[in-house]
Amino acid sequence: MVGFLNLNITALPRFLAQYHPWGRDEWIVGFIISLILVSLIIVVLIGLWIYRDAESRGENGVLWLLIVFFLNIIGLIIWLLVRPPKKELAERKVVEKVLVCPYCRFENPPDIRFCSNCGASLE
Ligand SMILES: [Zn+2]
Repeated sequence: MVGFLNLNITALPRFLAQYHPWGRDEWIVGFIISLILVSLIIVVLIGLWIYRDAESRGENGVLWLLIVFFLNIIGLIIWLLVRPPKKELAERKVVEKVLVCPYCRFENPPDIRFCSNCGASLE
């Protein structure tokens, strides 16, 4: 990824300057264009990260994607401040995942082999 970005920053302006109507010396235009392209790539990567992060924490990914898109860095800071902790969500999921005994309907922890209420095999 770092190599890819380096390639963009150094090779792209020279490539663009070569075909630029104002000549090879106007490489700064190509440099600015490549900077815009690189920042666009970064924006897309941040957007993808926000979407996945929000979805993995049980939030609306599209909503947060739009918030960050319109508010940019402020939206990103807001997300980092209000996002629910991932650890808590994971713990809650484990609690929700229970083994229901087919004989007595008792809710057992997921890693248990025998029902802790009636002793029936849960395999
Ligand atoms: Zn049971």
